[in-house]
Amino acid sequence: MICEMCGKQSEYTKTIFIEGTQLKVCKECSRFGESSDGKGGGKKSATGAAPSRAMVAERLQARERRMRTRDVYQEGEITAVDLVPEYARIIRDARMARNLKQEELAAKLNERVSIVAKLENGSIRPSDTLIKKLEKELGVKLTEKVSVVKTEGGHSAGKVLTLGDLIKKK
Ligand SMILES: [Zn+2]
Repeated sequence: MICEMCGKQSEYTKTIFIEGTQLKVCKECSRFGESSDGKGGGKKSATGAAPSRAMVAERLQARERRMRTRDVYQEGEITAVDLVPEYARIIRDARMARNLKQEELAAKLNERVSIVAKLENGSIRPSDTLIKKLEKELGVKLTEKVSVVKTEGGHSAGKVLTLGDLIKKK
C-alpha cells in the first residue's frame, strides 16, 4: 500500500478522515487525521501537542504538490515521434546508395523532382505521409522518438503515444 498523504510505501495503512476527505495513510501520517475506528486522533506526540490545523494543511499541500509532480512525470512518459534533424542527408545518402537519380526517386514516391531536391537540401520538411513513403522506398529511418520530459530510468509504464495517436488528437 502507498500512503496517500506522504506517498511512502507502507505495510500498514490506516483510513483516516481529514477535512472530510478519506485517506489511506501510513502509521506516521495517521496522527494527522481523525480515525475511522472512532478512537479519535492518533497518539499525541512527545511534546503533548496534537497536530495543528496548520500542520494538516501543510501536509495536504505537500500531497497536492506530489500529485502534480506525478502528472508531470506522466507527461514525461509520452513519447513523440519527430523527424530527425539530419533527414536531408539521410535521404540523399540512401538515394545515392541505391544508385537512384532524384528523378527516379521522385517517380517512386509519386512526387515532383523539385520536392526531392528540396528535401535533400533541407529546405522543406517531408509530410508524415511522405516520411512513410521515403522510409519504405529507401529503407531508412527518418523519425526518432522524443520524450517531452526526460524521465529517470527510461521505462515507460504508461501508454506510449504513436504518431497516429497524436494526429488523431488534433
Ligand atoms: Zn505517510
